[in-house]
Amino acid sequence: MTGSASVEHTPRRALVVGASRGIGLGLVQVLLARGWQVTATVRDSARTPQALSDLREQHDNALEIMELDLAQSPAGLAASLGPRALNLLVISAGIMGPDHQRAEQASRDEVGELFDLNAMAPLRLARALLPAMAPESVIGFLSSRMGSVSLNDSGDRELYRASKAALNSLTRGFAVNEAIPAGVGVLNLHPGWVQTDMGGDDAPVTVEQSVTGLVSVLEGALGRVEQRFVDFEGQTLTW
Ligand code: NDP
Repeated sequence: MTGSASVEHTPRRALVVGASRGIGLGLVQVLLARGWQVTATVRDSARTPQALSDLREQHDNALEIMELDLAQSPAGLAASLGPRALNLLVISAGIMGPDHQRAEQASRDEVGELFDLNAMAPLRLARALLPAMAPESVIGFLSSRMGSVSLNDSGDRELYRASKAALNSLTRGFAVNEAIPAGVGVLNLHPGWVQTDMGGDDAPVTVEQSVTGLVSVLEGALGRVEQRFVDFEGQTLTW
């Protein structure tokens, strides 16, 4: 089936991981505006940013805020969600990692933290939450064009690139062996180069432009049980 017709008229529930700022926060805003029921996670709920608290006030029962440090076990979060409850899971949390000129200047701890957070943790979380995904739902991983091996023509940020390439590789196996057989689509998303704390002020794409595009891409993928590597304008990227 093509999906959108049947999905559109049912209540839709999304979980956005890493929603304290940047792209994650923007995704929550757009999803709420489009009528989604949203669970947003932050690392420390005692330090929930004002922007998210304001959204909760504006949208009453439609926004729930939960705590999740991506570096920790996702078992508690997984247990709190009912089976087949989510139509959308978006894992936005990520880090740039150490700012070394060359990869080998990074310590083992720095490499471990970067690869664990950007590649292993999203996989761990998606696996733990797969039973909570509804049929024809979508899991979106915030990857990056920089994680494409074929499109790497500058080689800067070696370790960050490699961590996103690792995310792409790990989630490919997850999609083929687990998500797709369970009826769940997977998107590896490039958000553009975006004006966030990570992207910096020189980035050409605003958060609003990026997240509006990303939500359209995610909504358009509901009911399409496949994996794609795609940017915020819907263009397919090579791996
Ligand atoms: P930001 O640096 O603005 O925000 C990062 C988010 O990740 C924050 O909400 C932060 O939470 C959260 N986070 C970091 N570590 C953890 C953790 N251990 N547990 C839970 N949450 C954590 O990044 P962006 O919004 O710009 O990026 C979002 C995603 O998009 C990332 O995966 C990034 O790699 C990717 N991306 C971004 C691009 C850009 O140009 N901005 C380009 C390509 C990809 P806290 O506030 O608690 O630190």
